[in-house]
Order: sequence, then C-alpha cells, then structure tokens
Amino acid sequence: MGLLIRGGEVVTASGRRRADVWCEGEKITKVAAGIEPPPGAEVVEAAGKLVFPGFVDPHVHAYLPLTNVSAKSDYANCTRAALLGGTTCLMDFAGSGLEADLDEAWAVWTAQAEGKASCDYAWHLTVTQFDDTTRRQLEGYVARGLKSIKIYLAYKPTLAIGDADLIRVLEFAAAHDIVVMAHCENADLIPALQRKRLAEGITGPEGHALSRPPMVEAEGVCRFLTFAAATGAKAYVVHLSCAEALSMADRFRGKMKDLFIETMIHYLVLDRSYAERPDFEGAKWVLSPPLRETGDQAALWAALADGRIDTLGTDHCPFDFEGQKTLGRGDFTKIPNGIGGVEERMALAWTAGVAAGRITPERLAAVAAENPAKIFGLFPRKGTIAPGSDADLVVWDPAARRTISVKTQSLDTDYNPYEGFETAGAPEVVTVRGEIMVRGGRFAGTPGRGRLVL
Ligand code: MN
Ligand code: MN
Repeated sequence: MGLLIRGGEVVTASGRRRADVWCEGEKITKVAAGIEPPPGAEVVEAAGKLVFPGFVDPHVHAYLPLTNVSAKSDYANCTRAALLGGTTCLMDFAGSGLEADLDEAWAVWTAQAEGKASCDYAWHLTVTQFDDTTRRQLEGYVARGLKSIKIYLAYKPTLAIGDADLIRVLEFAAAHDIVVMAHCENADLIPALQRKRLAEGITGPEGHALSRPPMVEAEGVCRFLTFAAATGAKAYVVHLSCAEALSMADRFRGKMKDLFIETMIHYLVLDRSYAERPDFEGAKWVLSPPLRETGDQAALWAALADGRIDTLGTDHCPFDFEGQKTLGRGDFTKIPNGIGGVEERMALAWTAGVAAGRITPERLAAVAAENPAKIFGLFPRKGTIAPGSDADLVVWDPAARRTISVKTQSLDTDYNPYEGFETAGAPEVVTVRGEIMVRGGRFAGTPGRGRLVL
C-alpha cells in the first residue's frame, strides 16, 4: 500500500523543487527525488504539474443559520466543493449568535459536520458576549485545543459585541494565547447610513456599498486593533477589503506582537460594479464588507505579495438568487449578505495571481495553506509538504483551462458569482490524509470522512 506522487514540482511557502512525495497511511513519510514505489503502491504521475500542500481556507461558513434565512450550504456540499477546488481543510465559525451559549453552538456545529464533511475542518468559536459562563466554557474549549475566537463589531442584535465585553474577550485571549478574529465594521453606523440611503430613495443593491463605505471598515479596524494592542491579544482582521482599511492596519504594525490580516478572493477579482448591475441583479454580489474599487484590488494584491496580508480565504456563504437574494427586492438592507467561493478560490487566485505575475506559487502556498495552518495551530500537520505532515496534497495542472459556470459547479445554488470567468490552472488530484478525494477534476473520495482538527 502507500501512495506516490511522482515527478511533480513540489511547492511550499519556502520554495520549489522537483521531488516525489511518498505517503503511508495518513501521513507523508518521504519527500525526495527518485523514490521507487513498492509493489501495490498507488502512483499518481505528476510530471509537468505542481504539487501543493492541501489548501486551507481560514474563513468558510459551511453552515450558517441567520435570523430570516440560512446560507444555502451544508457540510456535505460545501466540503465536496472545497475539495474540487483544492481545499483540503476549511475553518468554519461555530455559532451564529442564535444559540443560547457556546456549548449549544458547539453541539449544533458538531451535529452538522460529523459524518458529513468530506474534507478536514476546524472551528473558530463565535463569542457575542462575555460573562462567567462564557469564561468557563471557553476554558474548556481551549483545553480541547481551540485556537481562535471570532467576534463581530457589526450586526446588532445577534452578533455584535460591545466594547466592554470585547475587552474581556481580548484579555481572556491574551491570557490563553489564542487569536481573536474580528469582523470590523461599526454596528450603529451601518443602520444609520442604511436609513439615510433608503430616505434618499435608494432601495436597490447599489445602496449596500453606499451604506458601508471604506471609512466604516477602517474605523472598525482602528477600534479592534487599538483594543487588541492595549490588551496584548493576538489580532486577526477578517475579510479586509480596501486600501483605506489596509492603511489603518499598517499604522498598528510594530505596536503589537501579533497582527494578522486576511482578504478574500472576491475582493481581488470582483469590484463594486457587479453589485450595481441593474434590475436587482446586483443583489447576487451583495456581501460585507462590500465589493470595492479596482484601485483597492491593486492595493490588496500588492499587500498579498509583500506580506502585509497573511491569508487568502473565501468567506464562503452562498445563497440562491431566487427566493433568497430576492428577499431584499425593494429594500437592499434585506438582501442576504454573501457569496460562495470554496470551489473557485484557488483557480481564481492562480489565474489572477500567479499566471498574471502578481504573486509567486510559493506565496500562494503561504497565504492559502501554510499561514492559515500556522496562525490557527495546525502547522506542520497541515499547510506544508514534509515528512510527518498529513498527506493532504494537490496536484495542480497549470495547463488546465476552464470556464466557471453555474452549469458545471458542484453547489446547487441557482447562480455562480464568477459566471463566465475563464481560469487557467486547476486541481487534478486532491488527497486528504492519504486518500484520493478528487481525481481528474472529479470527486472520487469517501464522503463524510472529514475530521475535526483542533
Ligand atoms: Mn463578516
Ligand atoms: Mn464570514
């Protein structure tokens, strides 16, 4: 038995070299040139291909119930789509602010994921307030390996945390050496600006971005990082979308020990004009923070290349257009926020990033595999190709040409936000812990064998 990936160019965050990768059981045991497979070994020929560590997505909503609507996603279809896109481990957020406490959130997410996830997964734990029960429960999860807490500055009344509780969360995190991730937009300013737009007669999807301008995000980044710097907590800004918020984050470099910045693939390849499409079609691209200007894309690409942005995720949170996005027809504030992306992230990042000369393959391995694994405590089990690491591998065919379409996507949503995008490069073979989950671009694994990794 055993699995040999033969003749490819192995890419990690630290370099590229031609080597074979030998896997026994669930682990990589040898990386070297000219490995001879024993009889009975499975051999994947990778000549002319790149071999990446399984990609890690730090920010996915595989399951997300909201007050009036739920994301059209479950662990079965989300993890299958992720694998088809080259992602072998995704991180979701346990808790949507509707559960009674952290234990209930953990139990709900466990019931959703166990036996259904096909790739491995980890959870950040959503905290909306902080009292003695929160502390006691959090201590239990930290003892079990929890590495991160998610807080929201936006979304009253379900999710937003107040300043006083935010300080308690940050103090707890600093004392227990865990990362606090924050959605950085102001909870009170957004509704005020939404009311203003509606009063001006702007009711369509274009009102969304107008009520969440870059300054609202920059203010959130400033407040979160001020509090984090003051308390000594490790801070992770989720889904940073624009140059103004990035400049704000830059002001905190050197003032704090650990500052991590995440961006999303949609901010790199889509701009606000999508959400401004007429006849309500723009609702397909309503998400938060909103899509920005093309100048913001350039700033994000530059920061992704020079190391100021650490991770590239998706904020995967798909909805149907008919019946879900249309809930906001006539009132943009009621459009469910979010789009999918787990299947498309790596092909888009390769196409617009590596093939376009903006980032190197090594940098792609850093932001989409090694860094998320490191920041959230999964490295070197995940995020690299080395003896002892999980045999999570992506054989990447740089010559593959595809056109993204709702007709060929894995998800069952009624539109694809990247419809018609032509991609260069695709995952050909994807393994998780030594089992081939994708072969020839098709799902070929055992559904439901994904594991919670903490
Ligand atoms: Mn968010
Ligand atoms: Mn999110």
